Amino acid sequence: MEIREILNRHGFGFKKQYGQNFLTDSNLLRAIVSDAGVNETTTVLEIGAGAGALTRALAEKAKRVVSYEIDRTLEPVLAETLAGCKNVEVVFRDFAREPLAAIEEKLGEYVVVANLPYYITTPLVMRFVEDAEKCRGITVMVQEEVAVRFAATAGTPEYGAVTAAIALKGRCEIVRKVSRNLFTPRPNVDSAIAKVTFEEGRIPVKSTRIYREVVRAAFASRRKTLENNLITAFRLSREEARRVLAAAGIPEGVRGETLTPQQFAALADVMELQ
Ligand code: SAM
Repeated sequence: MEIREILNRHGFGFKKQYGQNFLTDSNLLRAIVSDAGVNETTTVLEIGAGAGALTRALAEKAKRVVSYEIDRTLEPVLAETLAGCKNVEVVFRDFAREPLAAIEEKLGEYVVVANLPYYITTPLVMRFVEDAEKCRGITVMVQEEVAVRFAATAGTPEYGAVTAAIALKGRCEIVRKVSRNLFTPRPNVDSAIAKVTFEEGRIPVKSTRIYREVVRAAFASRRKTLENNLITAFRLSREEARRVLAAAGIPEGVRGETLTPQQFAALADVMELQ
C-alpha cells in the first residue's frame, strides 16, 4: 500500500514545524539502511518515525529498532505501516527531552539512523557526539549544506566548530546526495546523507572539555586571529597567548578555521597545563 494513500485515509496533515518531509522511494530506503551498515546484530535508534517507511526498511535488516516520534497523530498510521514488525518499538515522545543515559541503558550498543527533522539537526547530532557513550555511529539525512559542514576539511569556508567537534569523535563522510524530489512534501533544498563512524581515541586529547572550549574560542569571531580569540576567551595576555601557540607548534597570525582537529587537540593539551 502506498504511504500517501495511508496518510490520506487517516486524514493526516503534514506539520511543517516538525520538519515532516517523508521518504517513500523504496530503493533509497534500502540504500540508506545499507549505507548505515545495519545487519542482524545491529540495534538502531531512529529519531522521527514519520509514516514508518525508513523504520520498516531498518526493521527488515536490524536486530532491533527503537524509533521516537513526537507527533501522536501518526500513531494509527504507524500501527498500519509497521504491522507485523516485531522488532520495532515506537516511542511517542519528544526525543530532545529524553535523557540519553536512560536510552543507552535500555539499548546497549547502537547506531543512529534517521531522516532528521531539519529544525533540530545540528543540536541533535552534537548531542550524540558530545554525550553518547554507547553510540557506534550516526547515519543521517540532513540538508546538503549541513552535511558539507559536518564533513568539511580545515581551511574551507564550511569548516567550523561543529566539524571540529564531530572530527574528535569520528570519521565523517557524505555517503549520498538526495534530490528534494524524493521527499513528500518536497522541501526547498536538496539533502545528503552524512555518516559519522565513531572511533575510540581517534584524536588523542587530555581533556575533551578543554578541546571544546578551545574550538569554541577559535570560531567565536571568524574575523579575528586565533591569538586574539584566545586572549578574549581565556583572558590571556598577548605574551601568554603567543607562548601557548608556540608550545602547540601553531604559527602566529593564523585564524582558527585553518587548524586541523589534531592541531586543536595539541592546543587544548597545552592549555590544560596553563
Ligand atoms: N523517518 C520518516 C521518513 O524518513 O519518512 C520521517 C522523517 S521526517 C524528516 C522527521 C520526523 O521527525 C517527523 O515525523 C517528525 O514528526 C519527527 N520529529 C520532529 N521532531 C521530533 C522530536 N523532537 N522528537 C521525535 N520526533 C520528532
